[in-house]
Amino acid sequence: MLGVHLTPERDAVILVDVQNDFCPGGALPVPEGDRVVPALNALLERVRAVAVATRDWHPPNHSSFKPHGGPWPVHCVAGTAGAAFHPALAVDRVAHVVSKATRPEEEAYSGFQGTDLAAFLRQRGIRRVFVGGLATDYCVKATALDAVKHGFEATVLEDAIRGVEVQEGDCARAREEMKRAGVRLMRTEDLT
Ligand SMILES: [Zn+2]
Repeated sequence: MLGVHLTPERDAVILVDVQNDFCPGGALPVPEGDRVVPALNALLERVRAVAVATRDWHPPNHSSFKPHGGPWPVHCVAGTAGAAFHPALAVDRVAHVVSKATRPEEEAYSGFQGTDLAAFLRQRGIRRVFVGGLATDYCVKATALDAVKHGFEATVLEDAIRGVEVQEGDCARAREEMKRAGVRLMRTEDLT
């Protein structure tokens, strides 16, 4: 595959929810979730795109939590260690942090939902986004699909994502859904 060259005038890397609670040992761990960190760090070291990081940033009584009628264990409560970015993530490279699902009744798998992400990217002149992080079958998928809906060219970084796989095949289905919507799948090594 031909390499793609990234520039900060046109391109952004979106780091989706690389938070402690989504990594092994966290409250809602994605299998091998921490494995996205070296892949994303290496990419940010090599390319000069604008880096944006999204994070789940929930109130303690968030409606997605099991004690409040939701499907998930309590996770990523704003300000807690579980909600912090993975300690090895190159946050010094991140130009903008996007907090999502910050109100009790608001769920947001997509980094674009109820946030200033689209406005921030447009203001910077960004036309292409490269998405990695957690989890493939939830927030990565939703963010990539929303990027396309907002008019960005979206690529998901296959080696820098991991999935929850609540049902076997969820990640494969997520990939197909993204491809049908026009999202490209590439490996970080194909970016320069
Ligand atoms: Zn959440």
